[in-house]
Amino acid sequence: MLKKTRFLSGVSLFLVLIMALTILGSVPSPGTANPKKTDFHTGRVPKYVFMFIGDGLSYAQVSSAEMYLGNKAALGAVIPQRLNFTQFPVHGAAMTHDSTSFVPDSASTATSMSSGYKTLSGVINMDVTKTIEYTPITEDLKALGYKIGIVTSVPIDHATPAAYYAKVAHRGMTTEIARQLAQSGFDYFGGGGFQAATGPALAEAGGYTVVNTTEDILALHKNSGKVVAISPDLDGKALNYELDRDKEGGELSLADFVRKGIEVLDNPNGFFMMVESGKIDWAGHANDAAANIADTIAFADAIEEALNVYRKHPKDTLIIVTGDHECGGMTIGYAGTGYATFFEKIEKVTMSYVEFSKIVNNYKKTVTAETASLTELFPQIEQAYGLTPENLSAYEMGLLEDALERTMVPASERPYTVQERLLYAGYEPLTVKLSHIVNNKAGLHFSSYSHTGQPVPVYAIGAGAELFDGFYDNTDIYFKTAEITKLSRIKKAVGM
Ligand SMILES: [Zn+2]
Repeated sequence: MLKKTRFLSGVSLFLVLIMALTILGSVPSPGTANPKKTDFHTGRVPKYVFMFIGDGLSYAQVSSAEMYLGNKAALGAVIPQRLNFTQFPVHGAAMTHDSTSFVPDSASTATSMSSGYKTLSGVINMDVTKTIEYTPITEDLKALGYKIGIVTSVPIDHATPAAYYAKVAHRGMTTEIARQLAQSGFDYFGGGGFQAATGPALAEAGGYTVVNTTEDILALHKNSGKVVAISPDLDGKALNYELDRDKEGGELSLADFVRKGIEVLDNPNGFFMMVESGKIDWAGHANDAAANIADTIAFADAIEEALNVYRKHPKDTLIIVTGDHECGGMTIGYAGTGYATFFEKIEKVTMSYVEFSKIVNNYKKTVTAETASLTELFPQIEQAYGLTPENLSAYEMGLLEDALERTMVPASERPYTVQERLLYAGYEPLTVKLSHIVNNKAGLHFSSYSHTGQPVPVYAIGAGAELFDGFYDNTDIYFKTAEITKLSRIKKAVGM
């Protein structure tokens, strides 16, 4: 009798598995028109899984960085210098719309990738009624024995990282997000600080060691326990733009936080690490092509750290690289330059819009609307953007004169008209106009200060990478990762 029961349970488990496989094989996941044989992973289950998300990164962001580097290496040769991740053997693409809009935000798109569901913009791992919670892949992988790392260049309680450990009705609930971080039990959080003032205290109360000096961060190792490593050098609560990072001074980069994470998470059962480069997006919002390109290159540097793991453990590593949505409507090509690009103009930019805004704001304190003059600012403009009165057209000078005039109007007296929104979008007027002029001189342009509905590329290398071939929905990134790590079958088998 006992034998029979065991036999039956064995048979029923087998049937459940067959059913699960049949369901997985016959019903396309949302947005997948033609499920392929490769939707199954029959190879090795990777021990080291890296999920890299370039926030606001799509084809124009990737390609402009490659063209910039190629042009820098051989001026005028028209040979893009390929970034490491575009050389991965598998390349797919994903649609990014959410339940609200074809133009989504980071909360909903990260939810799609982390838990496999579409939801409203602004919502993290909850359904459109904001009552049902979704389980991010990290929770299930943690239960399987993987250690979990979350790294970002923006605040650790920002939407994209939060989607890998929290469930909240709105991304603005940062204290609740920080509370859930503290209770996640995940192993390594690194990069930016907390927006929530109580974040560090909550993390410490949750048993985390919070470190925020370069020395303490570099001293972390695999026996350090659960840690939150916050860069001591921050722009607000985010890492500085790569353009502004004090490289000689040893200021930590996104790559440094990934390398340290690999050390901290090292264990026989493997790990899953989500790494977000969040300021590619912020540079897109600000239409700062130079900062955008520099952060995309720094993103590739962070991916290089994962590639070092892949080279050591090629059969046990999976690296996925994608964007969550495009930002800025960036185009390679501009009406004013036609078919020509001049990426060397971008090389002249020595700081991000954040740093130049500080210069303008300091200058404002020394002058009045009547005495403010572009002439006085040109030494700084040349130093920051490589622009001089001699290499600007009368039209461009006019744009800068108008922008300076706008700069000198106190923000409180600057009505947010349609014109204001189109010209400056709430950014420091002179600074954003300088970015526009340099972009356009380089043959680049932005059509928005917000996200756009363009699809994003997906690159993959390692165990199970072939599943990421094709064109699919961003929720499929979750399903493919779950399949490769065997989560999907385990979930079906135990009736989850
Ligand atoms: Zn954004």
